[in-house]
Amino acid sequence: MAEHQEHSPWTERPSVALRPSNTGPIADFDAGSTPGFDGDKSLGEKTLVERGRALDDLQDMLYANGRSGDHRSVLLVLQGMDTAGKGGIVRHVGGLADPQGLSIKAFGKPTAEELEHDFLWRIRKAVPPAGHIGIFDRSHYEDVLPVRVHNLVPESEWEKHYEMINEFEQDLVETGTTVIKCALVVSKEEQRKRLAERLDRPDKYWKFNPDDIDERAYWDDYLEAYQAIFDRCDTDSAPWYVIPANKKWYARLTVCELLIEALDSLDLGWPAADFDVDVQKKRLAASA
Ligand code: AMP
Ligand code: MG
Repeated sequence: MAEHQEHSPWTERPSVALRPSNTGPIADFDAGSTPGFDGDKSLGEKTLVERGRALDDLQDMLYANGRSGDHRSVLLVLQGMDTAGKGGIVRHVGGLADPQGLSIKAFGKPTAEELEHDFLWRIRKAVPPAGHIGIFDRSHYEDVLPVRVHNLVPESEWEKHYEMINEFEQDLVETGTTVIKCALVVSKEEQRKRLAERLDRPDKYWKFNPDDIDERAYWDDYLEAYQAIFDRCDTDSAPWYVIPANKKWYARLTVCELLIEALDSLDLGWPAADFDVDVQKKRLAASA
């Protein structure tokens, strides 16, 4: 954010304001707030366009380094209740970057084959390769969300998942993947509106799942499950960010900013030539 400091609309960095230790209990969280951002929707959207260019430049550099032997990558984990806007983040934030440097993976209900393996099996297969930004639309955290809320496996089993997740993420970080985890939080009322919109618009029917209405009955259990995640799996090396998502523009801008900060922290430069530039210039000049 350095070059924007003077005119930055941010009064506090989202990477600080949105850590669970600063946002307080999820049950009291205001999903309509815009922490740290001093501006309205139109400024937010304008800022996203500007910051999208910074994201794109940094991603180019990450990709170039990946092609030159640097093994590092970035993984963005997206979680959120139905309609929270995970797909919108993929489209509107991922869409600011070069598709060839993105690895996007959505995790639905496990298939029969996936259920034969431990819950991290399908996740491990999807971690981003060197130089890529990976985006997980849902993730291994589903195994402590619906799996916990509905006891899809016995409690004695899902209880172990938290520690397994921490170990898995620690390994990822140690092998060069920067991990950031974003929980998009909508209010129950905002979800009602978004589901109603899906039912009113033929171009949105495909997003509607009748089960989503049943899940609303478990709202408080999901909040409790999210709180457990923040209490047990928010670490400085793989931090969680709690993102108010009633205002889509704010959620998108924030995720973009968090990605930029993650990329900035890699201190990337352009890879040096692994050939003699002058020699190659002369060869080119001499070629037909
Ligand atoms: P969507 O993201 O709308 O395509 O929905 C995917 C569905 O798969 C959601 O209802 C998720 O909760 C569910 N899902 C994803 N992963 C798991 C998992 N490991 N166990 C149970 N349900 C899951
Ligand atoms: Mg859905």
